[in-house]
Amino acid sequence: MIRHNYVRRILLAAVAVLLVAAWAASGGSSAAGRPRPAVLPATPGRAAANASAKPLAGIIVGIDPGHNGRNADDPSYIDHLIWNGRERETCDTAGTETDGGYPEARFTFNVATFLRSDLQRDGARVVMTRTSNTGVGPCVNTRAQIINRAHANVAIDIHADGGPASGRGFTVLEPIADGPNDRVIGSSQRFGRDVRSAFLSMTSMPVSTYYGADGIVYRDDLAGLNLTTVPKVLIECGNMRNATDAALLTSARFQREIARALEAAIIRFLRT
Ligand code: ZN
Repeated sequence: MIRHNYVRRILLAAVAVLLVAAWAASGGSSAAGRPRPAVLPATPGRAAANASAKPLAGIIVGIDPGHNGRNADDPSYIDHLIWNGRERETCDTAGTETDGGYPEARFTFNVATFLRSDLQRDGARVVMTRTSNTGVGPCVNTRAQIINRAHANVAIDIHADGGPASGRGFTVLEPIADGPNDRVIGSSQRFGRDVRSAFLSMTSMPVSTYYGADGIVYRDDLAGLNLTTVPKVLIECGNMRNATDAALLTSARFQREIARALEAAIIRFLRT
């Protein structure tokens, strides 16, 4: 009897396995009456392939939108001195504005917000030094610390210049070795070249006619470049005091264009 029960259990188990296999082959859900999808559902393998197809999956990008919308309201805070790695520098400034009163802080925050959304769509984790345009600060040294602590793979400081009214164009500001940033000088220069060429090929902004050489300048007096320990450059996206540049810089379409160029530069930098 024991043997007879044993054989019967094996037969019952075999029947159960066959029933489960038949149910799975039929799609598993047909019993619930749900329609089969027209397209095959993504298999786990396909989902993984899609995730890894995102060009920035696993990447951390730091974005520093220059200044803040209320900086002008708190001069005693904004004017206090911080150490920038070489010398004392004010915590921040109120930034510049166009002749029509469009503030640089609003421009930098808009570009940063477009860039963040593009980067996140492509799989990156984004760390911003400020997440609104209605505050004061943080100071420039704190902005560098935020990006360092996030261990960003690459970072960008976004600004627009307040140059002579007759001058046009963008300039990439690159770091000079000062100790804390020694290990990212070469990579920052490479990133700077990527930013410059993306700007030239993807936006209508020319290289600066009044600042730097062929769109590049080296600076050793800025906390944002002196204290940052990940590859980073600062870009002055154009001259807010020039009427032609101002018309571009204040347009949402152009701000999106800048964001796309910056993302292209980031992807190119990370691939090489
Ligand atoms: Zn600025």
